[in-house]
Amino acid sequence: MAETGELTVLGGPGEVEVASYPVPSPGPGEMVARMVRANICGSDLHIVRGAHPMVKPGFTLGHEGVGRVHALGEGVELDSGGAAVAVGDLVAATYFQTCGECPACVNEQSNICYRAAGAYARPAAEPPHFHGTIATHWHIGRAQSFFRVPDGVDERAAAGANCALAQVVHAAELSELAPGDTVLFQGAGGLGLCGVAVAGIRGAYPIIADLDHERLEASRAFGAKAALDFAGRSLDERVQAVREVTGGLGADVVVEVTGVASAFEEALRFVRPGGTIVTVGNITPSTAAIDPGGFTRAGGRLLAAYRYRPRHLATALRILERHPQIPWGSLVDADYSIRDVGDAIADSVARKITRASIVF
Ligand SMILES: [Zn+2]
Ligand SMILES: [Zn+2]
Repeated sequence: MAETGELTVLGGPGEVEVASYPVPSPGPGEMVARMVRANICGSDLHIVRGAHPMVKPGFTLGHEGVGRVHALGEGVELDSGGAAVAVGDLVAATYFQTCGECPACVNEQSNICYRAAGAYARPAAEPPHFHGTIATHWHIGRAQSFFRVPDGVDERAAAGANCALAQVVHAAELSELAPGDTVLFQGAGGLGLCGVAVAGIRGAYPIIADLDHERLEASRAFGAKAALDFAGRSLDERVQAVREVTGGLGADVVVEVTGVASAFEEALRFVRPGGTIVTVGNITPSTAAIDPGGFTRAGGRLLAAYRYRPRHLATALRILERHPQIPWGSLVDADYSIRDVGDAIADSVARKITRASIVF
């Protein structure tokens, strides 16, 4: 009889259910992982609220996590980076697919592959069932990429590589962040802290801003050169604070990692004339009041780093291997079992914890 596994399903808004399905066998070119850890990230909270345009009730949950190879499909001997893989190896995978054929993929913009959601925005009832990471198993299709996690990298650290860390590797590359550049991260959540670390590794001068004193304190260990407490400060005061730590003109690069619409407006004030803004966190529909003329006259660049390309995940894993002094594992501060996934989400929504991890 086929082995049975458990997965999480979106019920009505705010509701998560656990369901059992037979664990699939991987087809040619596919892989099935046994999950080790799956994190609950900010976008999962949007999904559970019912705010995601594609993930509907009955669909599987989870996109962030790390697992071990459970079964390899016919022809799969190497990971997407060319390293040999075997059953039991720790692996991280892209949660989305890159089809290689759509206009975005052909144009080297696989991060916005038109078919990306085909790997995760699917009903649990549809085989192979295990489309999400918050599950005992995870099916990795032919159009997804996966990489062996380098030896010595902690499972807790690796669990966030396929979301936050790969995402900010992409943002840093897109902005052409250079040594000595001042870069401001708006928000000291998982994205902001990973961003600060990546910016420091690239030789830039990372600055971070948030309203939460504790998160700002934590940013020092990730390499923040300046941590700006924006709590209770007006926009003009915030602009002044940014200018004080960037030589008077504003940041060379501003990276929006808050998911708050007003941060987009503020980014236009924090960037120096001719500088670059990268939006990452704002992914749900919202509106902001901006001054397009002011932006044109400043002569800057505005870029969007949506998801990442598969090679950015490989880079993220190498960063974890080569920079073990950075406390990556501290980004996850609470462990739960799959049966307690409802509590994990409630605690995340209530901000009792920073990032919940479901441990299998
Ligand atoms: Zn995520
Ligand atoms: Zn594509």
